[in-house]
Amino acid sequence: MYTMRPTAFDYHRPATLDEALSLLDEIEDSRPLAGGHSLLPIMKLRLAMPAALVDLGAIPGLDEISGNGGGLTIGGMATHAAVAGSEVAIGIAPVIPETAAGIGDLQVRNCGTIGGSVAHADPGADYPAVLMALGGAITATGRNGEREISADDFFRGIFETALEPGELVTSVTVPATPAGTGATYLKHRHPASGYTIAAAAAAVSVEGGKCTKASLVVGGVTAPPVHATAAVEAVTGTDGSEDAIAAAVEKVPESIPHTTGDSYASAEYRTHLAKVLSARALKRAFERAG
Ligand code: FAD
Repeated sequence: MYTMRPTAFDYHRPATLDEALSLLDEIEDSRPLAGGHSLLPIMKLRLAMPAALVDLGAIPGLDEISGNGGGLTIGGMATHAAVAGSEVAIGIAPVIPETAAGIGDLQVRNCGTIGGSVAHADPGADYPAVLMALGGAITATGRNGEREISADDFFRGIFETALEPGELVTSVTVPATPAGTGATYLKHRHPASGYTIAAAAAAVSVEGGKCTKASLVVGGVTAPPVHATAAVEAVTGTDGSEDAIAAAVEKVPESIPHTTGDSYASAEYRTHLAKVLSARALKRAFERAG
């Protein structure tokens, strides 16, 4: 039967992280609730039927955004709107707030959180590709303490991450973008939702007019996003000219093991978009590095 009502569930709103972790540990089939913009729709469709929701919204400090010369730390409950408008984030790793500003629409950005987004690991989400390209990491906290997981190891597949049951995403960290490095994230948006159809996140470091280090991650086309390794090898050492970038992005499909189409975009179209967006992202990253 098709329904738009979730099954009955208990609701808890703990005041501390410890209390939240205890509730998640003790109540079978309980789930954390952040912005609810992914969880509530799947509950209404009865794709998720948790016995209890543990709302993280009253835990102090979980939405803090802070940073220093080493990098940026974003609390798991920071909304996309807060990240987009954070002067601290803009100063340390500006591609992160740029990415946040392009998520969904205003309502989604006002409710959705970075912790909810990375924990949900939607193949159309924006943060995974950009966190992988920048060498970001996710801090997961459970009753036994916290651990840091690199973004490369965290995202494992469609709605699949390295989180263990009962663990919460308490923060996301991103290294500072140093002088001489340019980074960017570009996506082709689904016209209705804004979700990514295909995306490219690029970071390049330039010294003496030559690219000394590069990173290029394609999102939306596979889950999890992939490092376009062959393209990165091809562009490293070049001057980032249009010809060099065009030659490099020809190698992007080599890193896309398989992809499927859907009613909006065929597999071929997604792969084509991946190349086009990779070229644009690399070009912009080179411009920013200079
Ligand atoms: P919730 O919906 O509350 O939770 C999602 C899942 O994560 C649940 O399983 C929950 O139990 C778990 N969870 C939540 N917080 C934590 C935590 N701290 N630790 C561990 N597990 C946790 N996303 C994009 O990236 N780009 C888009 O363009 C985009 N467009 C959207 C358009 C629409 C119309 C909608 C409804 C959503 C869109 N989203 C998009 C998704 C949006 O960013 C969601 O907010 C996000 O994916 C989930 O964050 P949330 O805070 O709402 O999490």
